[in-house]
Amino acid sequence: MRASIAALPDTLISQIAAGEVVERPASVVKEILENAIDAQSRAITIRLEEGGCQRVLIQDDGIGIVANELPLAIARHATSKIRSLDDLESVASLGFRGEALASIASVSRLNITTRTSDASHAWSIQVNGGQCVQDVAPASGPLGTSIDVADLYFNTPARRKFLKSPATELGHCLDVIRRIALARPDIAFAVWHNGKVIERWPSQSIAERVDAILGEEFKNHRIPIEVLQGQLSVRGFISQPTASRARADMQFTYINGRYVRDKVIQHAIRAAYQDVLHGDRQPMLVLAIEIQPELVDVNVHPAKTEVRFRESGAVHQFIYQAIHQALAKPASASAMETMQSIPSNPLWNRFIESKNLNLPVTERTDLERLFVKLTPSVAQPQAIPESNDLPLGHAIAQIGGIYILAQNKHGLVLVDMHAAHERVLYEKFKTELSAEVRVQELLVPIVVHVSEKETGLAQEARAALRQMGFDLSVLSKHEIAIRSLPVLLAKADPAELLRHLLEDLHQTGSQAVLEAAQHEELATKACHAAVRAHRYLNLAEMDALLRQMETTDRADQCNHGRPTWIQLSIQDLDKLFMRGR
Ligand code: ADP
Ligand code: MG
Repeated sequence: MRASIAALPDTLISQIAAGEVVERPASVVKEILENAIDAQSRAITIRLEEGGCQRVLIQDDGIGIVANELPLAIARHATSKIRSLDDLESVASLGFRGEALASIASVSRLNITTRTSDASHAWSIQVNGGQCVQDVAPASGPLGTSIDVADLYFNTPARRKFLKSPATELGHCLDVIRRIALARPDIAFAVWHNGKVIERWPSQSIAERVDAILGEEFKNHRIPIEVLQGQLSVRGFISQPTASRARADMQFTYINGRYVRDKVIQHAIRAAYQDVLHGDRQPMLVLAIEIQPELVDVNVHPAKTEVRFRESGAVHQFIYQAIHQALAKPASASAMETMQSIPSNPLWNRFIESKNLNLPVTERTDLERLFVKLTPSVAQPQAIPESNDLPLGHAIAQIGGIYILAQNKHGLVLVDMHAAHERVLYEKFKTELSAEVRVQELLVPIVVHVSEKETGLAQEARAALRQMGFDLSVLSKHEIAIRSLPVLLAKADPAELLRHLLEDLHQTGSQAVLEAAQHEELATKACHAAVRAHRYLNLAEMDALLRQMETTDRADQCNHGRPTWIQLSIQDLDKLFMRGR
């Protein structure tokens, strides 16, 4: 028996669409907040009950909806934001698909109360499970729109079962709210849960909003970024490498005000931190990227959290450079603004507070713990008349064959000599590398077996590959001959490297894999060449290292993000000896 083909009823179509758009209460919050922002609201109040499962009520003070358009607002594919395909290509609003309210209405009890500035009173409409139960009728209410979504999935019990506990759903709602609030610090937000205020952010500056949402740790370790280049710009804050996390849960990236998780951007972030952060650590950041709307396609995913760039290679390069440069400046060069200081660190505080303070000597293991565990933070520079202005000061002694002691105008500087020298050499090698790619011609070409897709990629990227030192020729659909490759990679597995490189070029338009492979070689070389523990250095040699550190990019951290030097101010020393107490 063959079932006949029939068009689906509208409500069912919306319920199917709701599967993609309304995954959980947090998606309702996201869609309604985006509408409120598109409606030019200045202040938004969010009231949740039972993690949003029972109720999501969002009140805005935006432009409102005129009464006779209210039924359209909840109709499928009805929107005020685009009119034509041209509009879609340069869409500047957060919404444009015209399906959110229809989807939400089909799986909840939805009430909209709204008032425009030229209306003498508000109007409201009530829809339950996609069926209008109260047509547009006069109501009371302030300017703006209030959207009340109760009993999500009341009519689709199978989906209701997928909801997690109210606490978990509340967590998801707050994640969404934070993402949106970070993008719009100019808008005031208040969040209530079960009748209690849980978050409140007034209209404020970007820095204030970022600090309010990301917290103290980020506040003390953030580096500002602001770069404009042609049609691209990026603004925001990134964390110093020493303040990293195990998870990527504090990374907020935006394109034209829209929160996105984009693989090109994420890849660029990873690549930019690669040199200063251990592979399994994650930086914190908030980055707002602006790009001409025509150069990015936001209509890739119903929830619009993914995008497609027309020039992904250029975007990758831009983000990578912006972060890479922001991380490059050593703290010693920036007038001690972000000085490596100990007191704010809990480990150090415990150390100071412990009763062992009358120990005459700080044990070497204590020092080692400091270098491994301590994170730099802001200190209050205090001038000492006794020294000159060299940021890392003058060497006084070497202890344990490992650490250099130096004195600068703030007090005592402790340097991990091997880690610092390793960074200095590593940066020098990298500069030499970028000046000229040395190429090794192979006597006998290496034949690599690849997929047909990879052959295509290799052909497309031939010119770019040649610039990187790879001379390739395609022998057949499944064979590529490598005739030359960069000298540094002569020992690498050429087939695997080529595959990764092609994948990288394809996915992100970048050659980061190749750079990473070469840098890895250079890092090893630098580690071997750097001064070893127990090598005696005279004062002139130690001073020379300090001077090199001051002018070396990323000199504050070793490759894994540990500090290479720390500052102990005179106050820190005073505390150690309980002076002035
Ligand atoms: P989209 O946002 O993609 O246009 P929605 O279903 O989310 O689709 O909303 C449909 C329409 O309802 C919007 O285009 C807008 O005109 C109107 N609308 C929704 N929410 C609001 C609001 N808070 N303030 C003013 N207008 C709104
Ligand atoms: Mg919308």
